[in-house]
Amino acid sequence: MTVSVKACGLSDVGQSRSHNEDCFAIDAEHGLFLVADGMGGHGHGEVASQLAIEAIRSAMLENEGRPGGANASAEGIQPHAARLAAAFRAAHNTVVHAMREDSTLLGMGTTAVGCAIHNDIAAFAHVGDSRAYRLRDDELELVTEDHTWVNEQVMAGYLSADQARSHPLKSVVTRAIGGDREIAVDVREIEIRNGDLYLLCSDGLNTMLSDQDIHDHLAADGSLEELCHKLVDAANERGGLDNITVLVLAIGS
Ligand code: CA
Repeated sequence: MTVSVKACGLSDVGQSRSHNEDCFAIDAEHGLFLVADGMGGHGHGEVASQLAIEAIRSAMLENEGRPGGANASAEGIQPHAARLAAAFRAAHNTVVHAMREDSTLLGMGTTAVGCAIHNDIAAFAHVGDSRAYRLRDDELELVTEDHTWVNEQVMAGYLSADQARSHPLKSVVTRAIGGDREIAVDVREIEIRNGDLYLLCSDGLNTMLSDQDIHDHLAADGSLEELCHKLVDAANERGGLDNITVLVLAIGS
């Protein structure tokens, strides 16, 4: 099955930050879509998110057409899903290497979420709290699981989802590209269908808007450009406390 994918993205500094440390990329030709949310003082978050996005893109292009390697069969996933996970690991090495080369960059890192589409399988990879959502049959599903301290507490039953939303440690991520540990990348594959809508976003969107708000925007009529602007505007109207990035994919429409 050959699927048609339309994509649109928008990134905004928000209402309270001086820099936009988010970054996104749309490579429709290769079916690759990325959002990264950088962190680090002195504007170095921007460096981290851009480095990571470039590294993921170049690793995917280098390995295009190659099988996913031993990892694909070992992990039981599609070759392009294995390549995406490997590209995230390559980005981690790139960011760590940049900090070794330039000590003023120490402490930078970035979250990232990516989608690679091949035939009718969308592979999602993520590290940190950047998210992917799917709208199908008017139902919104969170595709990714935040790598945050509060989400770990929710999973373990120590915090409710509501408590997590307002917790003082809600922005502490437990995994990041450029973090001090070996990186573990979560990968998920979804068989896409005509009419599916996918949203990749940085936490500046979903900390300002509820899942119900996000659902209502995705379910509304309008072009993808209008949808991106409405999501960003809504997050800004709620305070825009962080950089806001959205990337929307419409399948087969
Ligand atoms: Ca953020």
